[in-house]
Amino acid sequence: MQTMIQCNCGRSTQVVHCPACGSVNRYPLAVKNEVDEQTGKLYRGYRCRRCGVEYNDLDRLACSAPPPPLSKTERQAIARAQGIEQFRASKGIDGTEDRKTMLQKLFSK
Ligand SMILES: [Zn+2]
Ligand SMILES: [Zn+2]
Repeated sequence: MQTMIQCNCGRSTQVVHCPACGSVNRYPLAVKNEVDEQTGKLYRGYRCRRCGVEYNDLDRLACSAPPPPLSKTERQAIARAQGIEQFRASKGIDGTEDRKTMLQKLFSK
């Protein structure tokens, strides 16, 4: 079973991304390939399509990319959560009330 290992930047290390800008758009770059002499493991090389940085799997260990921007779904989830908070606040409902009381308040108008 593969575990999700989080990169320095917050992305998954399973997703190959540029260690400078975090973009996953890349060209394979054979001249940057490195082979570990001990294990024979191949570290593949890439060139970032966004910023042009050349890197391979070893460089990825020292990733210094900025954290990933929120996906549309994440932004929507946050907006929804904030909306619900505001709605609750406007109705005088605090988050500690149980669901039943909350529903009663909502429909008691
Ligand atoms: Zn990273
Ligand atoms: Zn890049």
